[in-house]
Amino acid sequence: MDKDRPSATENASLFYLFQQRFSRHLSRPAVIGPEGTVDITFADLEEGSALYAGVLAKYGVQKGDRVVVQVEKSARALLLYLACLRRGVIFVPLNTAYTASEVDYFLENAAPTLLVCRPEDSRDLLPCAQRHAVRHTLTMDANGHGSFADAATGCAPEPHVEVLGDDEVAAILYTSGTTGRSKGAMLTQRNLSSNVAVLHRVWRWQDDDVLLHALPIYHAHGLFVGCHLSLFNASPMIFLPKLDIDMLLAHLPRATVLMGVPTYYTRLLSTSDFTRELVQHMRLFISGSAPLHRDTFRDFEQRTGQRILERYGMTEAVMITSNGYEAEQRIAGTVGPALPGVEARVVDQEGQIIASDKVGALEIRGPNVFKGYWQMPEKTQEEFTQDAYFKTGDLATMAEDGRVTIVGRSKDLVISGGFNVYPKEVESLIDDVPGVIESAVVGVPHADFGEAVIAMVVCKENRDPLAMTEEVMKVLNDKLARFKQPKKIFCVEALPRNTMGKVQKNILREEYKTCFSREA
Ligand code: AMP
Repeated sequence: MDKDRPSATENASLFYLFQQRFSRHLSRPAVIGPEGTVDITFADLEEGSALYAGVLAKYGVQKGDRVVVQVEKSARALLLYLACLRRGVIFVPLNTAYTASEVDYFLENAAPTLLVCRPEDSRDLLPCAQRHAVRHTLTMDANGHGSFADAATGCAPEPHVEVLGDDEVAAILYTSGTTGRSKGAMLTQRNLSSNVAVLHRVWRWQDDDVLLHALPIYHAHGLFVGCHLSLFNASPMIFLPKLDIDMLLAHLPRATVLMGVPTYYTRLLSTSDFTRELVQHMRLFISGSAPLHRDTFRDFEQRTGQRILERYGMTEAVMITSNGYEAEQRIAGTVGPALPGVEARVVDQEGQIIASDKVGALEIRGPNVFKGYWQMPEKTQEEFTQDAYFKTGDLATMAEDGRVTIVGRSKDLVISGGFNVYPKEVESLIDDVPGVIESAVVGVPHADFGEAVIAMVVCKENRDPLAMTEEVMKVLNDKLARFKQPKKIFCVEALPRNTMGKVQKNILREEYKTCFSREA
């Protein structure tokens, strides 16, 4: 027996699970690029991940060490992820929109041994890496080239697959915190392997499936759902660098499954080139990360004859609920029952389970629920109940048959184009701008992004509102990822407050809810 291949009973490694599944299909394409040509086969994936594991070994990156990665989506970026899994190294992907000052915090918090960044960012990030004693910084560009790939030249591969336990951490994904501090959610081997196996069954993956993958791979949706399912199924992914409707339309004929955030579907529907004929061969359209509007669900069915399958999940638990596979089980406005093996309940403020169809806080328990927040034991404890349920922070109702409907977010989170924006973080930066007294940031409906960030700013007397608006935008431009920046800023005289002194954001949301539709 190959000594590098421990038996399934002794290795809970996610990489080992994938390897068991794809090793019989090594000649199949694994990643197809935007040009439609095969970037890598599963044989390349096996060899390439071993080679990249060799690079990690060369730089002294050991099991349990962190590797922070802020790179563009590419087949080689996927190999880097797999190399980490293979070696038991903790993968920490970062949104490519994060600025250097944001990455600085992640480097301090994750304390990685290695940072892999885009070549153009290395000048700004090197001082941050040095400040936080990151031992090595390597680069990878959108084609996978750079000093990481260079280091692989002549490097000895490390085909060994680390033997790991269920509870060992595979990845840390940062979710922004309402307090402004991001929290690193630790996802274990078991969290990820249990989730991929159950989704494979529930969504009835088939041997000849081809996933059209236009999501980013630094987020749970694109990485743990999209990539994992294709790896587990040993089937190809068409890797598109980003959402581009023309590219989606061009590649749909070769695909069988599309996963997207609701924006994908509204944009597809906005073009007359998206027709029933174009997608009649498609097996499955999945939506998640933000609420899918009932109108989108209805218009999509009218246009294509197919129903979008909506599911619900979050960074801390990957996928939690899903509508059923059969067409009649795909119901607009609901996210379906908890996945097999996952328990969900809706509780009142005292933690008591409430009657069906009444709104309450959604709590969940199961093998998919994360281990805790990295280096934040108190925060972790706060987010779990005594009987080990995780408080999702989402408000929901649950029908008698267990079907969950997400009603809103208890934590004021704004989801714009599928990305989370925590108002507090934006407000803190605005409040620091000279001339600003205070600010409030909320999300309002937006036809394209689902929600758009807007800010209400109270300025000191005698300030010119137009000049202040421009000044705030300029400051945010340098400090915040674009998706977090307000799409509109309103200078107001005062913020509405309740008797406890809290800003009443519901009033602001109501007042400004049509500020984008008014433009139409
Ligand atoms: P993230 O951690 O970035 O994956 O964001 C998780 C949050 O996205 C959840 O807590 C929900 O508030 C929201 N979310 C995800 N899927 C859905 C959905 N299908 N409907 C409504 N909200 C969703």
